[in-house]
Amino acid sequence: MVREHQEPERWRFTNALMRQAILAIGEVMGERGLNVVLRQAGLERYIGSLPPNDLEQDTPTVEYATLNQAVQEFYGRAGKGMLQRIGRASFRYGVEEQATLMGVAGTALKLMPQRTRVKFILTQMAKSLMDVNDETYIEIRETPEGFVLADFTCGVCCCREAEHPICHLYIGSISEAVRWATGQDYQVQETECRAMGAEACCFLVAGR
Ligand SMILES: [Zn+2]
Repeated sequence: MVREHQEPERWRFTNALMRQAILAIGEVMGERGLNVVLRQAGLERYIGSLPPNDLEQDTPTVEYATLNQAVQEFYGRAGKGMLQRIGRASFRYGVEEQATLMGVAGTALKLMPQRTRVKFILTQMAKSLMDVNDETYIEIRETPEGFVLADFTCGVCCCREAEHPICHLYIGSISEAVRWATGQDYQVQETECRAMGAEACCFLVAGR
């Protein structure tokens, strides 16, 4: 069951997640590159002034989407790989911010088989994203091909249209989360994207 949502144009995004994305872009692109894409996205106000590191929902989700688009346009064909790197770095900032929580999770994970670890980390990601934001709706599905994270409120492609899946940053974050939980690299693929008219952005973590 999908909840009733506001129009995507009015979705709100968690400050800390926007902050992590901006830090990650700075890490991957350098400060000059970051400032170029912030200007291009019309988000100059974040230059030298990051969103607060809290769980309030003060950031319009469409701004997060526009920032993703600006990075994509800056790099052209290389955008996909760069956004995946940025997504990986974003997840690492998130781990640092929630060191205690992640430490507890890490200890629990060591006792689990690989497959269960994948399910565990995807479920935790979905839960923590939904806990902080009433609009967010994510399902974890088990399929013959592997686990699928289905985000019905994906911020990366919010209000965007495309002919191909475009949520590369999200792929990076999921890839890094699964690597963190399992110690191994799993192939992550976006099989459906809201920007293409799908109901949810679907990320398949291929079984090994
Ligand atoms: Zn998406």
